[in-house]
Amino acid sequence: MKELLLIKLKNHDELDRDDMRFLLETGDQDLRNALMESAYRMKKKHVGVSVYFRGIIEFSNQCSRDCSYCGIRRSNEDIKRFRIPMDEIVEAAVWAHESDYASILLQSGERRDSDSINFVETALKNIWQATNGALRVTLSLGDQTEETYRRWHEAGAARYLLRIETSNADLFSKLHPDDPDHAQRKQSLVFLRNTGYQVGTGVMIGLPGQTTDDLIDDICFFRKMDIDMIGMGPYLVHSDTPLAAEVFDYHPEHQLELGLRMIALTRLFLKDVNIAATTALQALAHDGREQGIMAGANVIMPNLTDVRYREGYQLYDGKPCMDENATQCRGCLTDRVNSTGENIAFGEWGDAPHYVKRTQAVGV
Ligand code: SAM
Repeated sequence: MKELLLIKLKNHDELDRDDMRFLLETGDQDLRNALMESAYRMKKKHVGVSVYFRGIIEFSNQCSRDCSYCGIRRSNEDIKRFRIPMDEIVEAAVWAHESDYASILLQSGERRDSDSINFVETALKNIWQATNGALRVTLSLGDQTEETYRRWHEAGAARYLLRIETSNADLFSKLHPDDPDHAQRKQSLVFLRNTGYQVGTGVMIGLPGQTTDDLIDDICFFRKMDIDMIGMGPYLVHSDTPLAAEVFDYHPEHQLELGLRMIALTRLFLKDVNIAATTALQALAHDGREQGIMAGANVIMPNLTDVRYREGYQLYDGKPCMDENATQCRGCLTDRVNSTGENIAFGEWGDAPHYVKRTQAVGV
């Protein structure tokens, strides 16, 4: 099996489920390293040696959902809720534009009330106006109605990241007791695609109760849904959440390794999509995001949120860079990316080649 797998990885031959299972579980370092090397070559071939920045603004921790793993879940009464004022959000977006980021990501807890929907719509219009539409804006604001997706797209959002969290419907229901409808989440990805967004999804890796086969299903799900962007990362414990009580066998180094192998296999399977090296990787190792790039990722999300608000946006314990402002973060990440031998594509939108091809194919 080892020899055959080494040849497949060298030749970029299609891997089957047994191969993927073996590569996710093996303790063999030769195979592990061959997986990373193969994925990195695939990345270079399809998306090049540039890393794209998406400046992330975590503008609110107000959330109507009660996800069992998340630190900003509705039931967590130990955090002070905030929403960053409109002018500060626009200011952060302008800073990103002037710092040549080209893309930003607006993220918050999930709210579906009209005040919140209008607020986001106005923020998008204001950002468009303040930057002459020069920024590509991604939203990560949870599950919404088709009408809301459409309004936000018309107001200027080009990309939407909605994680499926896990492709295992039973596990999804356990993690989301207040809204267990997995089919609805899948339907939202279809709505997003039909609305014209570049569509991103992802999962948490190493969840309690998740099997290796679930992870393989996750990657197959990404391909079946023809996804453009992947934002996935290791599950990390937040001590004030119900899921923390179900974690008995938690090894940070194992979570990191599994996260990296998932990036590598996803790169080999999906080839020309954008894949983020998420902050969760850096929470597990100081160079976690650089390791993510070497495993096949090509997007990094520097934090633009003013440090005053960061304490309130801790999705998991040990979130890194809590006191580093946007300028320091830009410098630190630039050095980190350069240390991998890659360069940052300042001033470029960095749409996934996958998205560009699929829209050109149908003449969008
Ligand atoms: N409310 C929006 C949503 O649900 O898509 C966006 C914000 S939500 C906090 C962003 C992502 O954080 C979720 O999709 C989830 O995968 C991730 N997340 C939350 N808690 C986490 C944890 N304990 N470990 C790792 N990732 C976590």
